[in-house]
Amino acid sequence: MTTKTDQYKPEFIESFPDSMNPGVLYISIEYGTCGHLCACGCGNEVITPLGPAQWSLTYDGRNASLRPSIGNWSLPCKSHYIVDRGGVVRWARTFTDREIARNRDRDRAFFARGDDDRTYDDWPPARCDPGDDVDQPTGWLRPFLGRGGDH
Ligand SMILES: [Zn+2]
Repeated sequence: MTTKTDQYKPEFIESFPDSMNPGVLYISIEYGTCGHLCACGCGNEVITPLGPAQWSLTYDGRNASLRPSIGNWSLPCKSHYIVDRGGVVRWARTFTDREIARNRDRDRAFFARGDDDRTYDDWPPARCDPGDDVDQPTGWLRPFLGRGGDH
C-alpha cells in the first residue's frame, strides 16, 4: 500500500479508531486534535493537535483544510505537504536536515515561551538563504528525530 493520498475527506469523530483509513482526515473536536495517515502512503499515523500555536482547521461545510503544512520529520518518509482547501494534498519541498533542525528549534522556542501569536506567513519557508546558517554537525539532531508526539 504505497498509494499517495490526493485528497482527504473530513470525518468528525469522538475518539480515534484503532486503525485509520487512508484519505480520511479524522477530526476530534472534543480532543481538539486531527489525525490522518501520511499522504505519501507509508501508512504512518500523523496526529495534528489543533491550537493557536499548533494547527488550525478550516471546515467549509464539506471539506477541511489544515494550516500550516504538515512536516513528518519524525517519519522515515519525511513527507512535507499541505492539506489545502478542499482537503487537497499539495506537496511541499522536503526540508534538509538542517532546515528541519532549525524549524524544530523554532517550534521549541515558541512552545517554551507559550507564544500564541506566531503567524505562518513564512511557513513553509519558501526561500532559504544558505548563507545565514551556522555550520553544525548533523549528528546532534538525531535524538530529536523519531520521537513523534513529543508535545
Ligand atoms: Zn509517509
